[in-house]
Amino acid sequence: MPAPHDAHGAPLVAAGARCERYHARIVRPVSGPDIENGTVVVEGERISYVGVRAAAPPGNDVELGDVILGPGLVNAHTHLDLTALRGRFEGLTFFAWIRALTAARAALSPEQLLDSARDGIREGLRAGITTFADTAPNDAPFAAMIELGVRGIAYRELFGPDPAQCDAAMAGLRETMAAMRSRETPLVSCGVSPHAPYSVSDELFSAVALFANEERLPLATHVAESIDESRLVADGDGEFAAFLRGRGIAVASRGRTPIEMLERNGVLGAHALLIHCVRCDDSDIATILKHRCGVATCPVSNSTLGHGSARVQAMVLENVRLGVGTDSMASNVRMDVLAESRIALGARTTERTAWELATLGGARALGLDHVIGTLQVGKQADLAAFPNGADPGAPSRASFVAVAGRAVDLRT
Ligand SMILES: [Zn+2]
Repeated sequence: MPAPHDAHGAPLVAAGARCERYHARIVRPVSGPDIENGTVVVEGERISYVGVRAAAPPGNDVELGDVILGPGLVNAHTHLDLTALRGRFEGLTFFAWIRALTAARAALSPEQLLDSARDGIREGLRAGITTFADTAPNDAPFAAMIELGVRGIAYRELFGPDPAQCDAAMAGLRETMAAMRSRETPLVSCGVSPHAPYSVSDELFSAVALFANEERLPLATHVAESIDESRLVADGDGEFAAFLRGRGIAVASRGRTPIEMLERNGVLGAHALLIHCVRCDDSDIATILKHRCGVATCPVSNSTLGHGSARVQAMVLENVRLGVGTDSMASNVRMDVLAESRIALGARTTERTAWELATLGGARALGLDHVIGTLQVGKQADLAAFPNGADPGAPSRASFVAVAGRAVDLRT
């Protein structure tokens, strides 16, 4: 597949003029009420005006038409490199699914992983997603996000259920992160991701958390997803426990719950993004709040894999920093954050609340709400417009997207 650059080597995102006036039937700032016949003015990469069209300062007019124009959506958890594996593992138990997935990913070449990540980003852009929080054990999503000009955090994933692997895993991580940090851009930064309680020892969780704090790197981890994970942590029992014992790894109780285990290992803090959090009781939610962790809920993936539903209403009520993720296309059918938000919040939610979770919610979960997530003067001009009156049950299709003030060509 040819790289999506234009003749001058610029990425997919086209260069925009210095001052654009985007006019829309409805502007939805999320930070305040909707604005009928509204305008968002963008100077360079930032928003310089949000309000009624009649009072907008001068600039180049862009008529977006009968649309709702809001902040770009935030996908708070995905695995872009797995986009090519969509639909490959239907009907498997979680344990069988994760083993099949790991083997299938290992069979993909670096070029295939990169193409897969590019396809995931393009799919996300068409659904209005401008920020991707990705976890991967390879370079593909990081490289693809930089190449295609989107915003994101590339959390480098690492594994190591055997405490004896800890030192080697950390040496590899230090080397990898030094190389990744030298390639960070204003839009794409990097972080670390110890994978999950069943694939990471207490020793490795502690070491990665210490490293992340020292290096001021954001951290993401899958946690409290499946019943077998909870059984492994609480009782040293279940399918993961049997698998680890079969590999000669000692298994014992590691805490009352996976969240408590992470707290004991120093993983929790404002820099931590907790992915899934399906199996959280009131005490776990209190712990998440105490440490001001971000949470990414992935309702379709959780349903597909039979894990149940996260306690989204309780987390919203408690003001947890909550965003929505699609997870990978190996456990989902499409990358559609707006649809995920509606599912996460339930049938009685309003469209505005679903938009807030998909935008500001994700930005808060990632610690980026001072930069993106609402349409406010001074924030980055990440924008997405959708046809006004579109069926909320149909796939979300953005009619216009911009990242940091640059309009995206959605035809590619
Ligand atoms: Zn995941």
